[in-house]
Amino acid sequence: MDYPERFDVIVIGGGHAGTEACLAAARMGCRTLLLTHNVETLGQMSCNPAIGGIGKSHLVKEIDALGGAMAQATDLGGIQFRVLNVRKGPAVRATRAQADRVLYKAAIRSALENQPNLSIFQQAVDDLIVRGDTVEGVVTQMGLRFYAPAVVLTAGTFLGGRIHIGLENHAGGRAGDPPSLALAARLRELPLRVDRLKTGTPPRVDARSVDFSALENQWGDTPVPVMSYLGSAAQHPEQTCCWITYTNADTHGIIRAGLDRSPMYTGVIEGVGPRYCPSIEDKVHRFADRDSHQIFIEPEGLQTHELYPNGISTSLPFDVQINLVRSIKGFANAHITRPGYAIEYDFFNPQDLKYSFETKHLHGLFFAGQINGTTGYEEAAAQGLLAGCNAALRVRGDKPWCPRRDQAYIGVLADDLITMGTQEPYRMFTSRAEYRLLLREDNADLRLTEQGRQLGLVDDHRWRAFCEKREALTRERQRLQDTWIQPNSAAAQTLDKRIPAPLAREYSLHDLLKRPELGYADVAGLKGEAQQHPLVTKQVVEQLEIEAKYAGYIERQEAEISRMREHENTAIPPAFDFAAVEGLSNEVRQKLTEARPDTLARAARLPGVTPAAISLLLIYLKKNG
Ligand code: FAD
Repeated sequence: MDYPERFDVIVIGGGHAGTEACLAAARMGCRTLLLTHNVETLGQMSCNPAIGGIGKSHLVKEIDALGGAMAQATDLGGIQFRVLNVRKGPAVRATRAQADRVLYKAAIRSALENQPNLSIFQQAVDDLIVRGDTVEGVVTQMGLRFYAPAVVLTAGTFLGGRIHIGLENHAGGRAGDPPSLALAARLRELPLRVDRLKTGTPPRVDARSVDFSALENQWGDTPVPVMSYLGSAAQHPEQTCCWITYTNADTHGIIRAGLDRSPMYTGVIEGVGPRYCPSIEDKVHRFADRDSHQIFIEPEGLQTHELYPNGISTSLPFDVQINLVRSIKGFANAHITRPGYAIEYDFFNPQDLKYSFETKHLHGLFFAGQINGTTGYEEAAAQGLLAGCNAALRVRGDKPWCPRRDQAYIGVLADDLITMGTQEPYRMFTSRAEYRLLLREDNADLRLTEQGRQLGLVDDHRWRAFCEKREALTRERQRLQDTWIQPNSAAAQTLDKRIPAPLAREYSLHDLLKRPELGYADVAGLKGEAQQHPLVTKQVVEQLEIEAKYAGYIERQEAEISRMREHENTAIPPAFDFAAVEGLSNEVRQKLTEARPDTLARAARLPGVTPAAISLLLIYLKKNG
């Protein structure tokens, strides 16, 4: 049966990618349908209940700057907030929140249910409706046909999902949820490169069976940080403690003795796992010289006793899991509420996508999230927002939006995946961004909100708040630049007590702010007239300080970006014949032909493509362009 109404955009999957994708398309005015297995699992965190962290919070703040839901849901569901790397530079500072799983999910569901232009329907999608090389809609498990010119697929770990606990395994999308088998089979008929990856999760433990006196406490920061640019600490629910404990030689002995029944070490699992989130058996095996690994004990929520032991993800048999958990300090009598497990699933080579996240082979079909080879809620949500936005742009007949690497971590993520592909679950790190001093978590709104507004992603409320902040920043920066302190003046004498040598010449307040020993509070009121404007908020002050103190480095990165712009702007035509470029080695030719980069800069980022090869390409393109 055909569903009576037609939609502009259909999103399959209500995880982190799917929820941001459908919200984005709907904010942009498209009639959007979200089709998902189960309305109760909208925004479900499949693994640890935490959002943000190094590299990841940068993505969350960018999603927020573009009007997405993840940061606001974190403010409503966060039960412990910390800023990591506080003593390091602002480029790597990162906010991390422990979330109450239920509150987070409720916040996402509420955002979806209150979003104009968005309808939700609970049903598995089993098939795509395809005419020629274009997708036209989807067919659900009960045979219902929904039509739309753009379909965004965000099926996470569900495609051909297989759950492993020891040598036992069964089909599943994640614990308690069905896999997507019919859709996986259908997708394997399409000319897309598909492979297997795996990820895992630890056993959960009942807090009532844990001896907390044996654990180290770990409290969040005070004042409590916020995730969203529109958020406030007043929105947070009650804040709680987390704990730290460690594995020991006994634990490692138990794990080693169980490896002969490990699906990973007996070859039952073939998919590659996340390098940066390894299972405990992997850690014990790879770092054989270490006799201890740290474990963070994190509450799953305010209304539950369940704990998430972060650091002991495992797919060992359940009897081994009980013994390994009980060997850990504080856990001698622990009761496991859910076993740990690994899951293997299908993912698609992201090199088969355009930079808009539309598949190269099927017009109108977009992929986002874990199915593109990534791991992590934030990575999924970022792709979802971009894919949803580009699906909406396609429906409108507009050009796609593909943020650049110097604009956003979302641009770095898209470029890394689509240019280079991935052979293992990809997660974001600040080290992946070459312009990380410009791409800070504190300035994501200044980098992206205006663009988001132009695209239709940013509503009036966010836009007004952003404009007020930007105006306050501009005004206060100007005042600091225009206010001068003369040597020996009363203001200079106040200042002289704080600086190593008295002022020898006239300085503006802005120049003074560049000094490492002075903060905004030291200089702002030196001329008496700093009746601080109410809009000069903590966020504005932070910007002024970072801009002033890192001005030299920021200018250098901006100059570097201008130099690179020529390569970014040198397009390589889609059907370009790399074999025609004389002097390229066979290896380079093969890499370029496989990846088909669309600009010279992207060609240069491919591993193994040398600067000499880029010069040859540039000369050829100029001669024949
Ligand atoms: P998901 O969150 O998986 O959402 C997919 C959604 O699509 C679900 O709502 C599902 O019901 C729906 N769906 C699927 N197929 C269909 C269909 N045919 N029709 C309708 N609806 C469908 N990340 C980390 O960063 N660190 C970790 O340690 C980690 N461990 C993990 C351990 C496990 C066991 C699992 C399952 C995941 C783990 N992850 C981890 C990954 C993290 O959960 C994902 O990266 C993230 O959830 C991906 O978001 P997504 O939106 O792409 O997919």
